[in-house]
Amino acid sequence: MICARCDKAIRPGEKYDTTVVHGNSVGQPTVIRHRDCPSRRRRARR
Ligand SMILES: [Zn+2]
Repeated sequence: MICARCDKAIRPGEKYDTTVVHGNSVGQPTVIRHRDCPSRRRRARR
């Protein structure tokens, strides 16, 4: 599963939200996003 916001993989155990998109893309009706994206946290890590 890939987070639609930060475009990173959501690991098992991490909390995420699923949003059903009512659009014309039939292939991806569901958008998955972290509840707390890692990239949004300020961490000095490389
Ligand atoms: Zn994310």
